[in-house]
Amino acid sequence: MKPTVFIPEPIAPCGLDLLRAECHCLVPWEDRIPQSTQSLGDDRGPRDQGLSAADGVLVRLFKIDRQALSTANRLKVIAKHGVGVDNIDCEAATARQIPVVYTPTANANAVAEQTIALMLALSRQIAPASIALKEGRFNDRHLYQGVELAGKVLVVVGLGRIGSRVARMASLGLGMSVFAYDPFLPKSDYSGPAIIEGSLDALFRKADFLTFHVPLTPDTKHLINSQSLRLLKPECRIVNTSRGALIDEAALALALHESRIAGAALDVFEEEPLPATHPLCHAPNALLTPHISSSTKESLDRMSLQAAQGLLDVLHGKRPEHVANPEVFRHESS
Ligand code: NAD
Repeated sequence: MKPTVFIPEPIAPCGLDLLRAECHCLVPWEDRIPQSTQSLGDDRGPRDQGLSAADGVLVRLFKIDRQALSTANRLKVIAKHGVGVDNIDCEAATARQIPVVYTPTANANAVAEQTIALMLALSRQIAPASIALKEGRFNDRHLYQGVELAGKVLVVVGLGRIGSRVARMASLGLGMSVFAYDPFLPKSDYSGPAIIEGSLDALFRKADFLTFHVPLTPDTKHLINSQSLRLLKPECRIVNTSRGALIDEAALALALHESRIAGAALDVFEEEPLPATHPLCHAPNALLTPHISSSTKESLDRMSLQAAQGLLDVLHGKRPEHVANPEVFRHESS
């Protein structure tokens, strides 16, 4: 009998075709594209049915928490389409010996390019200037003076796959002075253009632009809060393409309203979808995008294929290339 794979959110056809060649796929979005992944996640009916029937599940932002896992009695593998596995309870999966495969190399370039795009769009006020023109306010052009990136200090927090790319693009491509904070990266392992420093507070004080590329953990939650915001210069602009909860959004909205910093470009939010009533939607100099940093054709194809391949590897009894909880395979090497 073919194994059953539950795919609650849309993925590119290349990965779906790979799975369909050997699995029975439950694909609820082919009948009804969900308004949001959250609404599907909250819809206990299809969610529970899909998980309880599944040998494998392939998710994007769909939550696999402890309770969801408790309904998934046949589950042998969880595949994450992307890199941040904070929507999956990896501890609970590990306790059940369920590998969590993911696609850490698939979207790094797309997210790095979006980070640079957001930095440029924010510093040149591209979005409000475009809206003004379309509303017939061409002569408002004098309101849209920008600042240049060349020569400015960029602070990169987290110098992994995405952060190190951003550092290279900003330094070599845009002529920025790039500094980085990553206490888990031995300096000897880094050969790029960023200058690594050990004090995040000192870096906060000198940043013209601040960008985050760290996983969401108890240590990184609300790294930007009312205290750290006080360290930033009024000219500082924040970019976040990592995870929304790295920032205390209420404190950030207040700082923008009080012009204590110059702007923020955010692709990710603590609550997604971001409600239109959220204070950030009404904050000045806030450029907001709906979690689209990895949404390029190239990256979506790579994530779909790599997640599907990792899932099939586990079902075939092979060790997959990228596993977020490698301890589930520990017994094999001993
Ligand atoms: P990575 O694992 O390659 O790099 C993360 C880096 O952060 C590592 O070098 C690590 O040492 C460092 N780090 C960990 N804790 C830290 C801390 N407390 N302070 C400073 N540095 C710390 O991951 P990546 O592929 O570069 O991705 C980074 C994050 O970007 C992911 O965790 C994910 O949440 C997010 N992301 C978002 C999107 C999107 O669509 N918006 C897409 C991909 C990834």
